[in-house]
Amino acid sequence: MDKILISSCFLGDLVRYDGQEKTFSHQLIIQWKNEGRFIAICPEVSGGLTVPRAPAEITAKNSNVITNEGIDVTLQFEKGAQQALALCKKFHLKYALLKENSPSCGSTFIYDGSFNNQKTKGKGITTRLLENEGIKVFSEDSIDDLAKYIK
Ligand code: SF4
Repeated sequence: MDKILISSCFLGDLVRYDGQEKTFSHQLIIQWKNEGRFIAICPEVSGGLTVPRAPAEITAKNSNVITNEGIDVTLQFEKGAQQALALCKKFHLKYALLKENSPSCGSTFIYDGSFNNQKTKGKGITTRLLENEGIKVFSEDSIDDLAKYIK
């Protein structure tokens, strides 16, 4: 049975930067949770960041991750990505279901680094690492595609 790495905020964990919940209510989430398929992680918390924390975006200039206060948190984001990868290796995971638009978990869109609520095509730090290692990353917008893969 395929297990799936999942953004822990999808499961209702209060790990987002603003401390608000972002539960992903979908029939497949309920089914897969009941089947025991999920390995959950919040890469940003695993990387050492707090809840709440300052919002952060990936800069267009050099792909560093900067908070809206100008603090460089790239190292924490990279550490969290490494911990997500370590979980994938430990549990032999081939698939991840990660939250779109996040500077860690986004797989199609991220915010553009201007802190003006502007999205751009791009991938978060964790998604980049996992995909480089051959793990397929899906989002809430492509959960039905993931369902075609898992066994
Ligand atoms: Fe959710 Fe990922 Fe952001 Fe953590 S880093 S709150 S798991 S989207």
